[in-house]
Amino acid sequence: MTKDIGWNVDTSYARLPQSFYSKQDPTPVKAPKLIRLNKTVAEDLGLDQNSLQSEEGIAILAGNTVPDGATSLAQAYAGHQFGHFNMLGDGRAVLISEHKTPKGERVDVQLKGSGRTRYSRGGDGRAALGPMLREYIISEAMHALGIPTTRSLAVVTTGEDIIRETDLPGAILTRIASSHIRVGTFQYAAQFTEVEELRALADYTIKRHYPEVENEEKPYFSLLQEVINRQAALIAKWQMVGFIHGVMNTDNMTISGETIDYGPCAFMNTYDPEAVFSSIDRQGRYAYGNQPYIGGWNLARFAESLIPLLHEDQDQAVEIAQSAISEYSSIYHEHWLSGMRSKLGLFNEEEGDKALAEELLSIMHKQKADFTNTFQSLTRGTDLPNSPEFQQWKERWEERQSRQSESKEASHELMRKSNPVVIPRNHRVEEALEAAVEGDLSVMERLLDVLADPYNDSDKKAKYCELPPDSSVPYKTYCGT
Ligand code: AMP
Ligand code: MG
Repeated sequence: MTKDIGWNVDTSYARLPQSFYSKQDPTPVKAPKLIRLNKTVAEDLGLDQNSLQSEEGIAILAGNTVPDGATSLAQAYAGHQFGHFNMLGDGRAVLISEHKTPKGERVDVQLKGSGRTRYSRGGDGRAALGPMLREYIISEAMHALGIPTTRSLAVVTTGEDIIRETDLPGAILTRIASSHIRVGTFQYAAQFTEVEELRALADYTIKRHYPEVENEEKPYFSLLQEVINRQAALIAKWQMVGFIHGVMNTDNMTISGETIDYGPCAFMNTYDPEAVFSSIDRQGRYAYGNQPYIGGWNLARFAESLIPLLHEDQDQAVEIAQSAISEYSSIYHEHWLSGMRSKLGLFNEEEGDKALAEELLSIMHKQKADFTNTFQSLTRGTDLPNSPEFQQWKERWEERQSRQSESKEASHELMRKSNPVVIPRNHRVEEALEAAVEGDLSVMERLLDVLADPYNDSDKKAKYCELPPDSSVPYKTYCGT
């Protein structure tokens, strides 16, 4: 049966020291029903769609059976949640298996919402349909936007209600990730295991994600540098599309550089560096404009956890860690500036580019301009908000564009590829989720269809570019639901 689906199982994570996981099967559910299968992802993984949609396939996606030969486990990790260190771990997820794709890539297949584990603390180990579809929609949108992310293979309902403020339909998301190793996994190793176990984790991570540094003289230092670079690049990409992760705790930051854990995330409409949507982020720790700083803070926690591996002398190890971390800010800004140049259709580099980009953002902030639509207007050459400041800025920008050898057409094409027409606007996501939870999947299907091709304009996209009707109640997203 498993053979028909095409699972190619091998859980290398289970060969790490025992302290990193506990064997755990998903808890069976009453009446699994497939709500959504991601055919593109299934195909990329080399999985057979028809078999996945069969009763046996759905039983695996619901956790009622595990693929033949799979070692299902819950991972141990720790993490700083809103700045406070906690022991965590997969409390409502299990890694049912790793899978090797036809291209030879190894990915994690994780069920989220699959029941209690030894890391569940007070939680029920379950997830509700709305939030699982939300992760599905946003992760797939992020992928289509060209941003590294975990993917969503399927969502099933369990036929069981879960108890939150009200009873909600229970659901399970099958998440595909290049791995689930987090900054928090290293924090766990540094805090709760022996140095040899930390080393085993670092070696495993290098082999899996950064094999190019394996034979370097200082592989652990190189690992640190590589992770800093990938995370700096990732966060700059978020900033380019107005994505607010919402809960950038260290356990929600991957070592692979993929975006993970779409809880209270949202896309910004009006440009505002202080934009925050999460109901639990009262201090604005994870506000849009603070994400790059928090990225650095989290990476400093990663660097700290590597200290025992960086040098046998602790003072020197600290210095080495600091030297890598001190590079983060400039690496991030390079990624940011390069992204902004593309958004503005600039190929070459001039000293004034940073100021030009920042000035645009500052005008947008003052004018409460929509982030995505403003860059669309610039791309299309249509009307900008009618203000003298915008017009003056536009003249400077056009002058700047004329100082490059590339043609206007090439510049336009660069902008077209760098500025999405559609993003998953919060009101459209909510509308799709509300309908889906009521049993009507068509609104979500249409939304997913549009989000799968965000950089090309078409008539059907027009309504997805509109802003939400004015509301006096600010949009809020909820965590852990
Ligand atoms: P998150 O906010 O989704 O990143 O989750 C933070 C931690 O809480 C992780 O260790 C989760 O596994 C755990 N957790 C979240 N929801 C539940 C739940 N319903 N039951 C058990 N553990 C949970
Ligand atoms: Mg998490």
